[in-house]
Amino acid sequence: MRASTAEVIICGAGIAGIAAAYHLAVRRGVTSVVVVDERPPLSLTSDKSTECYRNWWPGPGDAMVALMNRSIDLLEELARESGNVFRLNRRGYLYATADGDRGAQLVRAARAAADLGAGPVRLHSDVASEYQPAPAEDFEGQPTGADVITEPSLIRRQFPYLSDEVVAVLHARRCGWFSGQQLGMYLLERAREKGVRLIEGRVDGIDTTGGRVRAVSVATRDGGVTIGTPRFVNAAGPFLTPVARLLGVELPVFCERHVKIAFNDSAGAVPRHAPLLIWADPVRLPWSEEERRALHGSATHGHLLDEIPAGVHGRPEGAGESSSVLLLWNYDLTPVPPTFPIAYDPEYPEIVLRGMSRMIPSLAAYFTRLPRCFVDGGYYTKTRENRFLACPLPMEGAYVLGALSGYGLMASNGAADLLADYITERPLSPYAEAFHVDRYEDAVYRTQLTSWSESGQL
Ligand SMILES: Cc1cc2nc3c(=O)[nH]c(=O)nc-3n(C[C@H](O)[C@H](O)[C@H](O)COP(=O)(O)OP(=O)(O)OC[C@H]3O[C@@H](n4cnc5c(N)ncnc54)[C@H](O)[C@@H]3O)c2cc1C
Repeated sequence: MRASTAEVIICGAGIAGIAAAYHLAVRRGVTSVVVVDERPPLSLTSDKSTECYRNWWPGPGDAMVALMNRSIDLLEELARESGNVFRLNRRGYLYATADGDRGAQLVRAARAAADLGAGPVRLHSDVASEYQPAPAEDFEGQPTGADVITEPSLIRRQFPYLSDEVVAVLHARRCGWFSGQQLGMYLLERAREKGVRLIEGRVDGIDTTGGRVRAVSVATRDGGVTIGTPRFVNAAGPFLTPVARLLGVELPVFCERHVKIAFNDSAGAVPRHAPLLIWADPVRLPWSEEERRALHGSATHGHLLDEIPAGVHGRPEGAGESSSVLLLWNYDLTPVPPTFPIAYDPEYPEIVLRGMSRMIPSLAAYFTRLPRCFVDGGYYTKTRENRFLACPLPMEGAYVLGALSGYGLMASNGAADLLADYITERPLSPYAEAFHVDRYEDAVYRTQLTSWSESGQL
C-alpha cells in the first residue's frame, strides 16, 4: 500500500465530479484535489445524455430557475473563454400541442416561468406578430423567456414540419444543447493544469475514525492505495447510495432507466436547424388494423394500445453533413437498481419513432422499414421531487454532489459552484437550502412534498 494525502478527494469522474474538481481548483484555488474513478472519465452516464440545457423549470419557488440561470451563465462564460469548443447553441425547446386546452396551459406555464425568473412571455396570436426564430449555431444576443404562438399560419410558416393539427407552440429561449464530452474534457484539462490528479480505481473504504473523514482507500490495478484527506465528495452518479454507505450515510435517492435512440434520418423528417422538439400531449400510437389486432392479444406489448404519457422528444444531432437524429420517450419511470449493461425493451425504437410521428408526421416514412437505430441510455439518479443534492453530509468532511437526474450536464456547473462554496466556506447562494439533504428534516417541506405535482422532468 502506497500512502499519500489530498485536500479533497472526489469519487466519480462524471460531469459532476469533474465540474467539482474544476470549481475547486480553477475558480477557488484549492490545491491537491484528487478525482478517483474506476472507469474512464465521463463514460458511465455523462456520455449518454441528450446534452440539452434549459432555464425552463417549474416551482414551487424559484430555486431551480435561479440555479439553472447561474449554471447557464457559467456555461456561457466557459463557451466564450474557450472559443466555444463545446458548441453551445441557443436553439430553444419547442413544446407543441394539438389540444386547445393545453395551448392555454402553455400560456399559463410561460407566465409562471416568467414569475420564477426564466424571462418574459411574448404572445403571438396574429399573423403579423414579430416572432424571432433561433439561429442554428451560437448563443449570443438571443431572447430569454418564451414565445407562445397560437396563430396557425405563423406556426405553419415557422415550423412547416410539425403536424397540421398543432394549435399552439411554446418556444422556451434560454435553452439549447452542446457537446457534453467537449465541455467535460475542457473542464478536466483546465483542472489538471491546476494540479488536479486523476486516479483510476474504485473507492472501497473511507476511514471515519473519530466521526470525521480521515482517509480514503482505493482499489487499483496494482493493489490499492490509501490517501489521507480531510474532505471527501461523493459524486458517484448511479452509485451514490453504496458510496454514501461507506460513510454510514443513507441518501434519499433512487434510479430510473432512461434510453434514447439515434438514427440516420435519410428521409429528412427532422430539419437540421430544428430546436429540441417536445410533444406536450399524451399519445395513442398509430397502428394499422392488423398491428392493432396482433397487439391486442400480446401479453408483453398490449399496453402499447393504451394512451402513453406526454413528453416524447428529439433533436437533430451533429454538424456539417450529419443526418443523425436523437429521440427519447421516458414513459417507464419505475425505480430500478442500476445494473450494467443497461437493458431496454427491443421494441423501444419503434415505439419512440411512432410516438414522435404524432408531432412530425414525416417520420411515418420509417414505419414500414425501421431505420437502423443505435440505442443507449443510463440512469437518472433522483430525489423524489427531482432536485439534486449539493451539500455537506452528516459526517464531518463528507459532501455529496449528485442526484442530477436528467439534467446533470446543464446543472453541473451551477451545482459544483455551490458545492465549492460549501467546501471553501464562502457565502452561499440563496438557493443553497433547496439542494441540501437537510430539507427533508423540515416538516413544512415534507408536507409540501405530498402535493408536489411538477418535477420538470423530460
Ligand atoms: C438518456 C439520458 C438523457 C439525458 N439527457 C440529458 C440532457 O439532455 N441534459 C442534461 O443536462 N442531462 C441529461 N442527462 C442526465 C445526465 O447525463 C446526468 O445527470 C449526468 O451525466 C450525471 O453525472 P454524474 O457525474 O452525476 O454521474 P456519472 O456520469 O454516472 O458519473 C459517476 C462516476 O462515478 C464513478 N463511480 C461510482 N462509484 C465509484 C466508486 N466506488 N469508485 C470509483 N468511481 C466510482 C463511475 O464510474 C462514474 O464514472 C441524461 C441522462 C440520460 C441517461
